[in-house]
Amino acid sequence: MKTSAEWIALSELVTLQGRAFIAGQFRSAVSGETFPAINPATEQKLTDVASCDAADVDMAVSAAREAFVSGVWSDLAPGDRKRILLRLADLVEKHGDELAVLDSLDMGKPISEMVGIDVPDSIDCLRWTAESIDKLYGEIAPTGNDTLGLISHEPAGVVAAITPWNYPLMMAIWKIAPALAAGNSVILKPSEKSALSVLRLAELGKKAGIPDGVFSVLPGFGHTAGKALALHNDVDVLAFTGSSRVGGLLMEYAGQSNLKRVWIEAGGKSPMLVFEDCEDIEKAASMAAAAIFSNQGEVCIACSRLYVQSSIRERFTEALLEAAKAYQPQDPLHPDTRMGALVDKAQLETVARYIQLAIDEGGQVLTGGVPEAVPGQGYFVEPTIIGEAHNGMRFVQEEIFGPVLAVGEFSDEAEAIHLANDNRYGLGASVWTGNLSRAHRVSRKIQSGMVWVNGWGGGDSTMPFGGVKASGYGRDKSLHALEKYTDLKTVWISL
Ligand code: NAD
Repeated sequence: MKTSAEWIALSELVTLQGRAFIAGQFRSAVSGETFPAINPATEQKLTDVASCDAADVDMAVSAAREAFVSGVWSDLAPGDRKRILLRLADLVEKHGDELAVLDSLDMGKPISEMVGIDVPDSIDCLRWTAESIDKLYGEIAPTGNDTLGLISHEPAGVVAAITPWNYPLMMAIWKIAPALAAGNSVILKPSEKSALSVLRLAELGKKAGIPDGVFSVLPGFGHTAGKALALHNDVDVLAFTGSSRVGGLLMEYAGQSNLKRVWIEAGGKSPMLVFEDCEDIEKAASMAAAAIFSNQGEVCIACSRLYVQSSIRERFTEALLEAAKAYQPQDPLHPDTRMGALVDKAQLETVARYIQLAIDEGGQVLTGGVPEAVPGQGYFVEPTIIGEAHNGMRFVQEEIFGPVLAVGEFSDEAEAIHLANDNRYGLGASVWTGNLSRAHRVSRKIQSGMVWVNGWGGGDSTMPFGGVKASGYGRDKSLHALEKYTDLKTVWISL
């Protein structure tokens, strides 16, 4: 791991490319409009970013369609696409520190998380998906001897991926890896709050050998580039990660246009349940702190609702408060920093509003509190823990997307399950118990796409990632991700 001085030196050297990448070239938006990329830790402008709209979307979609129809990528043997994607993985690895710095500067994430999570996970996802694509077979249907029924997976065509700002590189790769591996042309629309790393990724894609037009990146405000992509009649699949509100809008846009398939991976308000038979309270408390304070709580699977069995609540809360001390917000580029800056002023204000609401609703501030913004000093918030929380409070029900933890309690297993499920979201859940039967019983009953037992956030490229209820229904990673980007084709041959 580099020292703080080395990271700062690298941050001064990296190229800040803000132009869109369409048909193999960097270009300004057709309108010439830009918006600033701001470093949330310093409030300084990093660079200007192209503000793409419908005109740029038209250009990218027609380049993507042309490439798809030409077969320059879609007709390659899977093994050939694999080799190019493996080269891209190697380039991401080679330029990992540079990509890490770009995201850290752009959205305030601790550099240690970029180096420890985002970059290695992105490389692994690219490699795992690339390696899988030439090992998947079609099917032959069990027909009579006078026919041959073939069932194959075909690339869907032009895929638009719209991604959020909290894991800019990783969220993008979770979508583009399977979409490209399956043979599609892909247009990535990153969040306006963190577009820099994926613009560099587009350049690396070209260097790896991805043909022009097959992978474009269009930065732009959601209601311009994102909406134009979602309404476009020549986009076949829309893969989205972001808020449940915008996910709902995208489903409407698909209905208003060509019924493109829309995959939604949306928000969360994940519960953590700690039972009195938990075998290691200190470990659970330390994980409870990590589950809400890493990446400043700007994590879709953040366990923002903690329910502890009444008999161990006091002991657990003590251990939790101790663990939270490690998350004092600091310069994201310092290698020891475990909590950086919130992404922007609007996010800081949202978090401040929710902490005030928690107090007004009767919550008890155990540590942290309403942040006071000091102009020019960055958007930092103390780790905040609110006790006396219950499900009747708005701050316990709504996604805050910041370092704010609600702590409530339960008396028995049935109540724990009820409290966990009493929420509109269903992304993840963490359960702490030493009782194997309880671990299985509770995991089955919890309404969420993912459950972690005696841990939080575990998973790798082999496991699907996604939710239920208002958290959406799409799945990233694993072979299941490929289903989003392929169509089933049947061919019935009379013999
Ligand atoms: P957001 O919904 O505001 O924006 C997501 C993307 O949609 C951005 O690229 C944005 O520019 C674009 N967008 C916004 N309005 C649009 C519109 N009208 N039409 C088309 N595109 C539009 O979400 P965000 O604030 O960037 O990200 C935070 C959210 O993402 C949280 O709710 C978080 O839980 C969720 N998230 C979910 C997962 C998951 O895997 N389920 C992962 C990460 C983040």
